[in-house]
Amino acid sequence: MNSNSLISKPTYVTKFLHTDQTYAEQFQELTVSLIAGNIALWRPGLARAVHNGADTLIVDPMTHAFTYQGYLNKKTYTELPYCPPAPLTATTLLASPEELMEFTRAVLRFQVDQGAGILVAPYFYTRDIDDARLAANIRFVASAAELHTEIGDSLPLYAWACIGSSILLSPSQTTEVARVYQAMPVDGYLVTAENFDDRYVNEQSLMGLSRFMLDLTEGKDVVVCSIAAFGQVLTALGANGFSAGIGWLETFREVSLKPGEASFAGDRVHRAHYYYIPELLSYVHPDDLRTIFDEQTGSETMRKYYACDCEVCNGGLPEEAEDKKRHFMLRRHQEMAELAELELADRPGHMRNRLQLALELSNILEEEALVRIPAEHFVRWIAILDRLAPPSSRDVDDGLGPDEIQDIIQQTREDLSGQGSS
Ligand SMILES: [Zn+2]
Repeated sequence: MNSNSLISKPTYVTKFLHTDQTYAEQFQELTVSLIAGNIALWRPGLARAVHNGADTLIVDPMTHAFTYQGYLNKKTYTELPYCPPAPLTATTLLASPEELMEFTRAVLRFQVDQGAGILVAPYFYTRDIDDARLAANIRFVASAAELHTEIGDSLPLYAWACIGSSILLSPSQTTEVARVYQAMPVDGYLVTAENFDDRYVNEQSLMGLSRFMLDLTEGKDVVVCSIAAFGQVLTALGANGFSAGIGWLETFREVSLKPGEASFAGDRVHRAHYYYIPELLSYVHPDDLRTIFDEQTGSETMRKYYACDCEVCNGGLPEEAEDKKRHFMLRRHQEMAELAELELADRPGHMRNRLQLALELSNILEEEALVRIPAEHFVRWIAILDRLAPPSSRDVDDGLGPDEIQDIIQQTREDLSGQGSS
């Protein structure tokens, strides 16, 4: 971690989407928030609310879109002051240092105009180690560092490492790309891995991203982006935080930058109705949620011990999508605050216990309510923690260990059988 970090405690960096104005206005005491540059320009009221509501704002310049055709059909992109008239290629930019410098200047100036508290150098997506865009990324960061004094040297400068999954699958490529980024004259990094859905990627990819993150944390900040609950594992292991939208993950996919890629608008409405259960580290489908908490046929354990008492739920279940998102915001920030209270060495153990609890609870739900919550990925995540956490931190008991969970199950069964006989 950077010793002067603006993100000194484990942080959920909320990424605000164009539909999130209400939450931007309601949550006004955030540490760091993130907004895409094109959204900020399109929705100035939203951008203002996000800016006012956070100590530090990060504006994603979204420059990775500019080596594809897709942005040409999207007005929010073409109105960005640094939007190129035709897609850029790494080779032409590298052959024209002045053009590259001008582009970098315009990208940084835009962020300052939007009130950014951390500057992000322009970046392209790097598919693999042979991708010429990696060289362009190095040059972008070098140019941004040169312009730093001119544009705003009081602001930290970050590089955005947006990398392909094939890099993470190869330990030698992961190390090599990490070495390239380590050498950059920056205060920190944002990291996005392509097509990285943390529930489905294999252990090798999880390990690749974890090692990449750890390689970059030496004296610098690291925020992992577009990631769901595995972001909490990475934060327990040493990242400053992670970023995702409110209430649902959004995985970055290269295909979304290409033309003709329709967004799943209908699907998104549906997703907004999922409900986040922190103890399960999962978003639960509305039908399953009703089944789980059903008075007659639901799970006694969940009802008794894990009904949410945040100010939105107050022991019940919110019906409206908006309330489910507010609940998510409250609980997710609370999860991070709990992690922040622990010493660095105790965080992996705490996270391990939480994963263990999620596994146990998913078994209980299947037994008690006949609802299956996917949980296999937690086994992979625990394996990552066990391999990467310092040995001393593995035996933390903060009340969520398997023994305690067994006690809860036992107690619930006794209660239930007591009720049955009365
Ligand atoms: Zn709640």
